[in-house]
Amino acid sequence: MKIDITETLQIDLDAEQWLCSRCGHVHGPARGNYKEGLLVHDRDPSEVHRPLLDTRRYDYSFTPDPKWCAILEYYCAGCGVMVEVEYTVPGHPPCHDIELDIDALKAQWAERGAPAPREFAEPPARTGHSHGHSHHDHKH
Ligand SMILES: [Zn+2]
Repeated sequence: MKIDITETLQIDLDAEQWLCSRCGHVHGPARGNYKEGLLVHDRDPSEVHRPLLDTRRYDYSFTPDPKWCAILEYYCAGCGVMVEVEYTVPGHPPCHDIELDIDALKAQWAERGAPAPREFAEPPARTGHSHGHSHHDHKH
């Protein structure tokens, strides 16, 4: 039985695995940290939070100091959906932010029965003129 944990994470209670709720990719053991099975992008903090002051003139520009702040983006290795973003200190292992009692979950869901399958909304139809010059939207 697959149950939703977050918008992009599910746990398969029978297999005891973390799954991507979008594509079904297996991230790893449900009793472990799901982040260990994800792709990680260690972002440059100044890309995420652009300096608000001239960095040639000021040491402090309102952008996080990369010596003290790391911004880690986690993505599904199967479909690329962003699963989590973590602000941490450089060199810290992935924060273990979801640790569930799998045995208790199994007992809880055994009484409830399986949840309804997830349905994802289709992206809105692109109609009318576009301001872009992309030719990727055309359907033939
Ligand atoms: Zn996925």
